[in-house]
Amino acid sequence: MLAVFGHLNPDTDAITAALVYARLLTRQGVDATAHRLGDLNFETAFVLSEAGVEAPALLPELPAGAAVALVDHNESAQSVPNLAELNVTRVVDHHKLGDLTTTQPPYLRFEPVGCTGTILLKLHREAGLSVEALEARLMLSAILSDTLHFRSPTTTQEDRDAVAFLAPVAGVEDVEAYAL
Ligand code: MN
Ligand code: MN
Repeated sequence: MLAVFGHLNPDTDAITAALVYARLLTRQGVDATAHRLGDLNFETAFVLSEAGVEAPALLPELPAGAAVALVDHNESAQSVPNLAELNVTRVVDHHKLGDLTTTQPPYLRFEPVGCTGTILLKLHREAGLSVEALEARLMLSAILSDTLHFRSPTTTQEDRDAVAFLAPVAGVEDVEAYAL
């Protein structure tokens, strides 16, 4: 069992990236489950409600050596207290590399884009997997949230292109209205 989770004080990207990455890994034959490290904020609760998806469960205390995948963070200060004892097998993130150390060779995917959701869309494409409406809505929401609807200086063309692709798949006709 691989526990997939985003950072403490989770934002929409931290929650939706855990959900989407766990589903992607499951489709690839990995026994993965999404978790969260804290309460949903108001925006994320809205996103999950609109998507009709349950919030991931709070991460239980994991024994030393348990396999974990980090999304939307990599620094220990933003993660579980006993991260150093865990087996970090995967990280998908768009932040600077911090103090991450691992006990095994990990799969790492870092890109300087505005949102983990943008990277997750690429992982679907690279794996040759279709993007379903639910995943599309979750990734779309995360990108709009992290980039402040493209107003953040961290926004890249890849984030814009991802939203343009995801909106019709998600059934979001008016991205402006949804972002508001
Ligand atoms: Mn985040
Ligand atoms: Mn993010």
